[in-house]
This record gives sequence, C-alpha cells and structure tokens, in this order.
Amino acid sequence: MPLVSASPDHIDQAAAFLRAGQLVAFPTETVYGLAGDATDDRAVASIFAVKGRPSFNPLIVHLADWEEAADLVLMDRRAKDLAIAFWPGPLTLVLPRRAEARVSLLVSAGLDSLAVRVPAHPVALALLRATGRPLAAPSANPSGRVSPTTAAHVAADLRPAPAMILDGGACQVGVESTVLDLTAERPMLLRPGGVPLERLSALLGPVQSAMADPAALRSPGMLPSHYAPVLPVRLEATEARPGELLLGFGPTAPPGVANLSPTADLTEAASRLFALLRALDRPDHQGIAVMPIPEQGLGLAINDRLRRAAAPRNG
Ligand code: AMP
Ligand code: MG
Repeated sequence: MPLVSASPDHIDQAAAFLRAGQLVAFPTETVYGLAGDATDDRAVASIFAVKGRPSFNPLIVHLADWEEAADLVLMDRRAKDLAIAFWPGPLTLVLPRRAEARVSLLVSAGLDSLAVRVPAHPVALALLRATGRPLAAPSANPSGRVSPTTAAHVAADLRPAPAMILDGGACQVGVESTVLDLTAERPMLLRPGGVPLERLSALLGPVQSAMADPAALRSPGMLPSHYAPVLPVRLEATEARPGELLLGFGPTAPPGVANLSPTADLTEAASRLFALLRALDRPDHQGIAVMPIPEQGLGLAINDRLRRAAAPRNG
C-alpha cells in the first residue's frame, strides 16, 4: 500500500526512494505531483512512462528555495523580483538553463530553457530538503485525466503506482501553477494558473499571453517550442548512408554506433534520446539516420519527437 501519511519518517523514506531513482507522488499547493530526481535521466524517463504521455513536453523542476533555482537557471532582475514576490508559490518561471546545470536534458525536452518553481506546500518543501536534489514533477495523473488534488486520486488513477504516495491532505490552490516565460525580452504567459496575470503585470508591466495571441508564440525567436538537431534526420533507417551518422536502437544495431538502448529498453532509450541527438549533431556530417523504434509505451513519445526532428524545416 503506497499511500502513507506525510510524517517525517515517511518523508525521509520517500527521499531515499527518490535518490535511488524511484518515483514518489507528493502534495503541492497546486495539485499532487509525480516526482523524480531531475538529475537522473532514467528517473525522468520513467515519469513519462508512468503518465503514459504520448509526447515529451517539458517538465517543471521543483526546488527548495530560490538560491537552488539560481544554480540551474540564469535569473535576471525580473526573475529575482518575481521570486521574491511569489516564491514559495504557484508561479513557474521558464528561464535560460545554465550550461553547467546537472539536470537531465529530457526534463526540458532538449530545450535550452528550464521551468523552475519553489512550491509552497510544507510537505513538498520538506521532501525537497530531505532529498537534496531538484525534483522534476508533472501532475500525478495518467495523461489525459484531470489533475489529482488528493492522495486518494493518485492512488486510484496511477498505474503502476509510484514507490510511495505522501498524503498531505487536499491541495489548497487546486489548479496548476502559472507558467511565465522570461527567456525573451517580453514576458509571455504560457499557462494561466494559481497566480493571476494581473498580479504579474503589476510587477512586470505588459505581459503577452500565448493563449490570447498564439501568433506571438510562433514568431521567430520568441519561443523555441521544440528542440531539433541542426542536421537533417532520416527515420526508419537500417544503416547510415555516406555522410550520415547512425543512431541505433536494439541489439541489431552495428557495434560501435551510438545506441539508444542496446537491449531495446524503451525507458533507457528515452533517457538517452536528447543527449545522443546532441552528440550526433556534428557539423562535419550531413545527417542523422535513426533506426526504427517500436510504437509502444515510451516509443510513442520517442517517435513523436523524432518525427518532429525529421519534419521539413522552415528557414
Ligand atoms: P505540468 O508538468 O503538467 O505541470 O506542465 C508543465 C508546463 O510547463 C507545460 O505547460 C509546459 O509546456 C511548460 N514548460 C515546462 N518547461 C518549459 C520550457 N522549458 N519551455 C516552455 N514551456 C515549458
Ligand atoms: Mg498535468
């Protein structure tokens, strides 16, 4: 029975599970989150597997305080002012990732930005402090279902169950955090949530809304919503053509090539996808050829991302 009270002993136990690469569901003031160690590629891949997400949308990294956030992302004046005003609290900031940040590339789906937040729930903060790692956590519901606001929702819906579900009562806010992108000059609201837009613009001045103005999202330089390698990507390849580098999958891949998973383990493949795409994206070659990945489990999200990388580019 993984649902337990959020006593200090259980929080320590949950922290030990997280440091060992397992997943734990925990209460935040917004909704219940499904947490994994954000520095552990495999733990992050298993978050996507448990949620059954058909694509790798980037996850929010939860931290115990703003100094920990500043170790991972570049916080400009605006970000610091917002952190002082709203953290701990239901505001997520998308900021440029520090090159040296030891966070799995899968967390931000290969992007150079990272979404960070300091949650206000005492159990969430205690868990973050006990774990001593940044925690990647989307809402603890299967993809397509509503977000859980009690521990019982998580226990009823999530299969396979996480190593532990910390019960911290019903969530106070009950809606997700507000997501604000600060990677460009004009702040952009990516998701409305617990902190109202008016409170942000009172501090920042005008804030563009991606919902009200979807064209702004697509305008060049505003928001690179998907990471794609510079080199063209060819799918369903059986071998590399001249000038190409092969990205292998499974035991039939030639020895010595970059291999997403020599044993055809989809969780391992997901955990290595963005790091290997980046490693193969070399200007001294003409393309990346990718061997077939099965359309099942995490293979759906891997193929979704690879198809986007292989799609014709504008400009
Ligand atoms: P969830 O984890 O389900 O609460 O959703 C996270 C939200 O944050 C989604 O709307 C993501 O698209 C957004 N998000 C997270 N990281 C980034 C990022 N690096 N760039 C843009 N949006 C992000
Ligand atoms: Mg969600």
